[in-house]
Amino acid sequence: MMKRVGVIGGGQLAWMMAGAATKLGIELVVQTPSRDDPAVSIAADTIVAAIDDATATAQLAAQCDVITFENEFVNLEALSLLENQGICFRPSLESLKPLLDKYHQRRYLQDLGLPVPPFAALAPHSNPTAIAEQPDSIQPTFPIVLKTRRHGYDGQGTFIIQTASELDSLLPTLGNQALLQEAFVPFERELAAIAARSVTGEVIVYPIVETQQENQVCRRVFAPAMVSPAIATVVKEIANTLLTSLQVVGVFGIELFLTADGTVLVNEIAPRTHNSGHFTLDACETSQFEQQLRAVAGLPLGDPTMRSPAAVMVNLLGYEHSQHDYQEKRQRIAAIPNAHVHWYNKVEARPGRKLGHVTVLLEATEQGAAVAAAIESIWYSR
Ligand code: ADP
Repeated sequence: MMKRVGVIGGGQLAWMMAGAATKLGIELVVQTPSRDDPAVSIAADTIVAAIDDATATAQLAAQCDVITFENEFVNLEALSLLENQGICFRPSLESLKPLLDKYHQRRYLQDLGLPVPPFAALAPHSNPTAIAEQPDSIQPTFPIVLKTRRHGYDGQGTFIIQTASELDSLLPTLGNQALLQEAFVPFERELAAIAARSVTGEVIVYPIVETQQENQVCRRVFAPAMVSPAIATVVKEIANTLLTSLQVVGVFGIELFLTADGTVLVNEIAPRTHNSGHFTLDACETSQFEQQLRAVAGLPLGDPTMRSPAAVMVNLLGYEHSQHDYQEKRQRIAAIPNAHVHWYNKVEARPGRKLGHVTVLLEATEQGAAVAAAIESIWYSR
């Protein structure tokens, strides 16, 4: 078994691996740009360096049996030199390669026969005429959806454009970037699946969840999603096909759209643990973070079943610039029955920044909306 695991990235996703690492007897070594990053406090050792600094990753590798990722902003070309020298990345660079660019990702999913919205690549410096010339299926009318092909997260780099003047003012700000244009999907709900695959090819999929985004940022997650068994099966099969085809060793998050007529479309693959799986920490027999460590350490996967009939997860997003620790609000939220508050100890709050989350265990998913509203009224009150 792999005893020392290197993690590229030291944000909350690495921080949340701590409990599982202790349980499994694994030491984490983290590569992250700042000593203030959340996971530094739980790491056995830290290499302070940019995420895409492959020289730093070589140092990380010298201390570790295997390297895994907590974000996808890596430098694949530089890392492949290390992989060729025998350094073990899990998931392998080969399984990440089709995913890091959103256009390549869509192509890969389409080639696999998985359902995706109509899409097309858009050259840098495209003008509104080029956008209007796209086939009808890609929605030459508003709303127009444009995405930067790399380095998007939390809605940064995703633009849902409602008017011609919005488009005119946006395009010059995108500069010399290749873009992805895709059809606007009038979804009824957004779903997500967390799936893990082991070294031996075993795949597990967690109960499917419903996610709710505001301004393209995840606000809350309801588990399990209130969808028919048939739709849950479709989503689980998508997850299975994808992880098997990519030969993933690790955990992936899969975001999907569900339309009113029951069509499921894949929106995005996150090649790592995912916000939609945070509920697993408190609500499942094995958390997504333990599952990632089990997979990359070469252990059999754990049981993904829920320990409670349902759960709701609410992100605690920054709403101001401040260095406040919000202790009083956190205490009030923690007093909600069956609530589990996770606070990432970030040095600075900024609007939209993920500062923490809370999961509340429930008897039924239907209870989630009212509980989420109660949490948000405490958190966002002034
Ligand atoms: P990120 O990489 O930042 O997570 P996504 O591509 O997942 O960006 O988009 C963020 C959110 O924007 C989605 O969860 C969804 O609410 C909305 N969105 C993205 N693409 C579309 C689309 N084609 N049609 C409708 N809404 C979309």
